Amino acid sequence: MTWYLRSMSDHDTHCGELAADGTVTASCGARFQPRPLPLGRVSLPGHPYDRAQICPACDAHRREGTR
Ligand SMILES: [Zn+2]
Repeated sequence: MTWYLRSMSDHDTHCGELAADGTVTASCGARFQPRPLPLGRVSLPGHPYDRAQICPACDAHRREGTR
């Protein structure tokens, strides 16, 4: 399970898969270009720092253990 930022807004960090074309398909159905992070990363190294940033739909998928 990997988390990606779509923006710095609340509820806009999603978990999903990064495709070869550089877009993320999130488990909530969103498709977007992930926001670049420091050190050249695009995915978060672990869980989002701020729970308020997590997409509620993606968080629900994560808790259910589905993708
Ligand atoms: Zn989401």
